[in-house]
Amino acid sequence: MYVVAEKEIAGLMNPEAAFEAIEAVFAAMARRKAYNFPVVREAIGYEDALYGFKGGFDASGLALGLKAGGYWPNNQKHGLINHQSTVFLFDPDTGRVSAAVGGNLLTALRTAAASAVSIKYLAPKGAKVLGMIGAGHQSAFQMRAAANVHGFEKVIGWNPHPEMLSRLADTAAELGLPFEAVDLPQLGEEADVIISITSSFSPLLLNEHVKGPTHIAAMGTDTKGKQELDPALVTRARIFTDEVAQSISIGECQHAIAAGLIKEEQISELGAVVTGDNPGRADAEVTLFDGTGVGLQDLAVAQKVLEIAKEKGIAQQVEI
Ligand code: NAD
Repeated sequence: MYVVAEKEIAGLMNPEAAFEAIEAVFAAMARRKAYNFPVVREAIGYEDALYGFKGGFDASGLALGLKAGGYWPNNQKHGLINHQSTVFLFDPDTGRVSAAVGGNLLTALRTAAASAVSIKYLAPKGAKVLGMIGAGHQSAFQMRAAANVHGFEKVIGWNPHPEMLSRLADTAAELGLPFEAVDLPQLGEEADVIISITSSFSPLLLNEHVKGPTHIAAMGTDTKGKQELDPALVTRARIFTDEVAQSISIGECQHAIAAGLIKEEQISELGAVVTGDNPGRADAEVTLFDGTGVGLQDLAVAQKVLEIAKEKGIAQQVEI
């Protein structure tokens, strides 16, 4: 099997390659050529850790495997980031393990690529202002991927912890874009595209904040109980997601579904917009991408990075 170490990923993978991999796997999901396995996520009762597996099989890209890992909130004392994961790929012809690939940076890149795919297909025409809600680790990756796919002229941002906003200002400066810290009503009014990427458990962006036409990529809610958007805003939007089953159980739509405000049938896969089977935004005032994060995304970027690592002779080969 091959091993691609976490420390090598930054030199091998970039937002463009991640975007291509994620766009292709969303299309494969919509064509029913690729499917995700049920997610396992357990509070293990040790170090307050959440550990789990996300896996799947892509019959068109021949990617089989899983990402194992989770969230260790006390990792600072070990000098490590709290999110830790590794992607394992298996040979679909034989079942033999074919690669172990560091999954930490790849998770950020694949998550940012998913919202970038939604922005490419769903942003309102002539969108100029990107609104960022959230200023944690993922937010910089989100902003870079969004700027890579669409020519924004300005970034505005809000975060529940204002002391973290410098991350957004620094990332915007790196991209050559002006940045302004604003309150949520101003963000909802001015932004043409909004990315929310916080670990909130109650609504931040309210229905009355958003004037439209607007596209919202809701990326922070990936667990039961988390919530970033007012359910009335979700109800008002034309809704897309990576996977409907996850959207209604662990994604942003879980709350509007539980309140009986929307039905599962109202939620479409973003992949169907990529394949041209769904018209996407059409005449919608507000579009929403509920990005929950699926195992197939992890496999897609890990497979891509393995391909590049092999080409460059960086993948180490070990016998098991
Ligand atoms: P981080 O810990 O670096 O940053 C956390 C962010 O959430 C900051 O903006 C912080 O101000 C805010 N926050 C913290 N506690 C909050 C609270 N109680 N209420 C409201 N906001 C709060 O985290 P990160 O790595 O940037 O991840 C952000 C979110 O994205 C997390 O919820 C994470 O699980 C989620 N995530 C989703 C995917 C996906 O595929 N959808 C992938 C990776 C991460």
